[in-house]
Amino acid sequence: MLSAIALFGILIVSCLMSVAILGSLLRTAVAGVGRWCFAYALLASASSWVLVVGNQPGPGAILGVLLLTLGAVMLLVQGMRQFFGLSPVRRDESVAIVIVVVALAYFTCVSPDLHARVTLASIVFAYGRITVGTLALRHAPRDGTRYAHRFLAAAAYLGALVHLARIVAAASGVVPPTTFLQLSLWNVLLLGLAVVTLPCMSIGMVMLAHDQLARRMEKLATIDELTGVLMRRAFMSRANLLLSEAQEKSRRLSIAILDVDNFKAVNDGFGHAVGDRVLARVASVVSDGLRSCDLLGRLGGEEFAILFADTRKTDAARMANALRLVAERSPDDGVRCTFSVGVSEILPGDTLESAMARADAALYMAKAAGRNRVVVAPETDELDTLEFVRVRDGSG
Ligand code: GH3
Ligand code: MG
Ligand code: MG
Repeated sequence: MLSAIALFGILIVSCLMSVAILGSLLRTAVAGVGRWCFAYALLASASSWVLVVGNQPGPGAILGVLLLTLGAVMLLVQGMRQFFGLSPVRRDESVAIVIVVVALAYFTCVSPDLHARVTLASIVFAYGRITVGTLALRHAPRDGTRYAHRFLAAAAYLGALVHLARIVAAASGVVPPTTFLQLSLWNVLLLGLAVVTLPCMSIGMVMLAHDQLARRMEKLATIDELTGVLMRRAFMSRANLLLSEAQEKSRRLSIAILDVDNFKAVNDGFGHAVGDRVLARVASVVSDGLRSCDLLGRLGGEEFAILFADTRKTDAARMANALRLVAERSPDDGVRCTFSVGVSEILPGDTLESAMARADAALYMAKAAGRNRVVVAPETDELDTLEFVRVRDGSG
């Protein structure tokens, strides 16, 4: 009796701590955290109710504690679904839960049957934990860290194991079922595991939320919100990595700088919002037309850069021209939008900056020659010997 009370006391404290920790994440608006937090509050309430009613609970208290715990288990499951972007409520599950609630009420108030109650509740608890663990594993990222997912799944499955053993033991009559505070092997084992696994599950959930927040921060720092492509700093740092790799393996790389033509006139004539949409569309047309090995970034304003992997400058110019034609032929909001491109190849001994300076000079030439074209830079820094290769209408 004493040890069961102590275990319930520890369980209440650990659930309240989980509420406090998960509650601190509510303001981050991570999906699912609200349900998890509420679930632990319900578990703390159910455990407190057990302590209040003592060893001889009436049917109302028994049913109340069971329903609170049942609700908590379902909230944990729903929170997991919500966290992973799924619909939190499933119709078949809700129907099953209603049936279980009716059955529990029947076996508590109409025809009291401890055996049936324990079996039913254990089935729901095991189901809840298995579902939590399986959702965590199923949605673990293929790349990147899966530690939080595995930690949470391990804690959830461990708890499920005891509930499953309890169902088998009760069904086979090996262990007689008991009420909450009765000192029995099962109660101590169950409570002991709940004391360990429930806080571990909440720690796993906090880890999941932190991983998501870290990904969010990384995205904010690397992805341009308007166009969805890499921001300048992220582009330069990834391009430099690709450049070192290519130089090690003696592979060719070409870089293109792309600038939307007369964009100021778009803003002036149609408004900034339309200008924004045009920029987003240009980025999406270009991004859709690139290979997965290429890199696209927004250098700033209406200027973008593309790093073509394993590509000579003439091939890069051909690809850039194909993108130019697609953009030109798909007006948005009635705005026909074109862009000019300067292309250069990264040579042995080049830095990214020096190759970009040549591409920039070629872009300048494209603008000077009337815009809406692709110009390839020569392989030296001498601008006055700039090889003027005009690529228009796919004629090369
Ligand atoms: P050019 O063909 O010579 O490149 O002419 P341009 O008008 O495109 O170039 P200019 O540099 O004169 O103007 C660029 C304009 O792009 C000015 C700036 O207000 C606008 N701009 C920069 N960033 C954004 C943005 O995020 N959204 C919108 N709507 N406009 C932007
Ligand atoms: Mg421009
Ligand atoms: Mg510009």
